[in-house]
Amino acid sequence: MSSRRRRKFSNKTFTQHITLYVLGVRTCNAPSSLTISNMTNCLFCKIAHRKLPSEIVYEDEKVLAFKDIQPKASIHFLIIPKNHIESIKAPQSEKVVPELISAAKKIAEEKGIAGYKLLFNVGREGGQIVDHLHLHFLAGKPRQLP
Ligand code: 5GP
Ligand code: ZN
Repeated sequence: MSSRRRRKFSNKTFTQHITLYVLGVRTCNAPSSLTISNMTNCLFCKIAHRKLPSEIVYEDEKVLAFKDIQPKASIHFLIIPKNHIESIKAPQSEKVVPELISAAKKIAEEKGIAGYKLLFNVGREGGQIVDHLHLHFLAGKPRQLP
């Protein structure tokens, strides 16, 4: 390591930096209150950071939408914030929900979908399986409610 590098990190902060980097945390723009295991184990964070494949149907700076792997209707997208927010219960959700709804309206307009359902499952008791906030966008022929 160069002396320039040594000046930048103390032994302790350098070790922390490397540990977080190896865990992939530095690639995830998540709030500091979030635990490391929450982010590294999060399926939708991995999709948002292109570490897992998905069929993307919409993207902007803050929001990503992709096809649900087990569609409950002939059209079924999941609209997520790129930042990790666990669910509607989290206070940070209030700012991002309008952005998710706005993305849903843009997707519908772009794809010429005249009518659709928007749904949040909240908490295990509410049917939420993936702990990264997501808005279900359902249209066409129903299969089974998520
Ligand atoms: P929840 O029940 O948490 O509201 O909905 C989670 C949704 O994520 C389900 O509809 C499920 O089919 C979908 N899902 C789970 N794993 C994956 C995956 O790896 N990729 C995609 N595209 N969707 C997934
Ligand atoms: Zn996440």
